[in-house]
Formats: sequence, C-alpha cells, structure tokens
Amino acid sequence: MEKELFLHDSYLKSCRSTIAEIMENKVILDQTIFYPSGGGQPSDTGIIRQGSHLFHVVKVKREHGRIVHYLHDATHLKPGSVEAELDWDRRYTFMRYHTLLHVIAGHLYNTFGALAASNEIYEDRARIDFKFEENVPEAYFSHFENEIRQIIEEDHPVTTRTLPREEIAKIPGSIKTIVNLLPASIQQVRLVAIQGIDEQACGGTHVRSTREIGAFSIVNVKNKGNNIKRVEVVVKT
Ligand SMILES: [Zn+2]
Repeated sequence: MEKELFLHDSYLKSCRSTIAEIMENKVILDQTIFYPSGGGQPSDTGIIRQGSHLFHVVKVKREHGRIVHYLHDATHLKPGSVEAELDWDRRYTFMRYHTLLHVIAGHLYNTFGALAASNEIYEDRARIDFKFEENVPEAYFSHFENEIRQIIEEDHPVTTRTLPREEIAKIPGSIKTIVNLLPASIQQVRLVAIQGIDEQACGGTHVRSTREIGAFSIVNVKNKGNNIKRVEVVVKT
C-alpha cells in the first residue's frame, strides 16, 4: 500500500514519489502528501512534476483502499519518479478549519455532552452539527465564540497516536461512540488529541497547536430541530 505521508507530517508541502500505476488521467504513487477527500475535509490539489512536464492534480480520492490522484491531463506522464507539490495555502486553510472543528466539538462535548453528528469543510467556511441531550439556552451562544477563542489562545498542543481498537474502549469520553461506527476491518485507530480539550479518531490533517488556527468567527448557530444545532465558522485568511 502507498505511504500516506500526510498522516505522519501534515506540514510536508512537497515530496519525491515513484509512479505505481497510471490509468488514463489517474495516477497512483508509492507515497503521497495529497490528502484524499474524507471526514468532511476536501481533497488537496497541486501539481506533479516530471522533467519539464507539469501535471495538475485536480482532486484526490480514496478508491478501493488506494489513493487516486486525478490529473487534468496525464498525456506525457511516464512510469518513473515525480515531484509532488501541494497547493499549500488551500491545504493549510483546511488544517486550520479542521482543527477548529475539533476544538468546538471537544468544548461542546465537555460542556454539554453534545456529540458531533457530521461536518463539512469548504474553501471559505465550515459547518459542524451537534446533537444536544438538553435544550441549551440561546444566551449561551452569545459568549460561545469567546470561549472557543480563549482555548485557541491557550495554545493547546495537537498530537496523534495510534492504538489497537480494543484499547480505545477503555478511554473515557466520546471516542468510543465514533470508533464503534468504524468498519470492523479497521483494527488500528489513529487518535488526534488537543491536549486537555478533545481526543478523537481522525485521519485528517491538523495544525500543531491551537494558536495556529488564528483568527476566526462563528458566523451562525442554527437550530435544525430535535436538539440538533449547526455551527457555522469562517477562518480569516
Ligand atoms: Zn481531525
């Protein structure tokens, strides 16, 4: 299986790879820095360079367990080695959004026991839905943004570890709920922790510590019925 370099170092902006397979406009590399879309985070884009030829990576998807890079045009691409390079500004923005959603999820779980139901990151905004067990007074959300900002400014480190699935059942908190939804074939689970705030099973890309999330605003908290609330955020670029 190809090496997923973004799991070990989300700050790698380029790498040298060897082509494993070319299928029309799609290519598989022996190792990649390109994050395939998943978990609400869009795929990376960027370029693959081979000699004097430049190939634009327009999307990246996980298909049958392999990471498939879709090129705008793969004419002239040949087996051998390539240089891969991310559209870094786009990826870094997703890392900030993604980590911000973890902070919000951790804080709402710690405060109300609310569980994140789903989330989606776009280029210019993100949203995350929560199921609350109780009716939260609307007044709470007037200082919600300040609470999140305080956590960001406290600069909590973001770390990862990988544990056997059965070990995770022993960890208190909301992780179990999520891990129970993972396919049985996944026996090793990658956990992403924001020290003192949150720990979740996640295969996405994150910033190193909360202060890197930087300036943001919570633009909306919408009622979706059945004690479900949608939190919409924007990070400033
Ligand atoms: Zn994550």
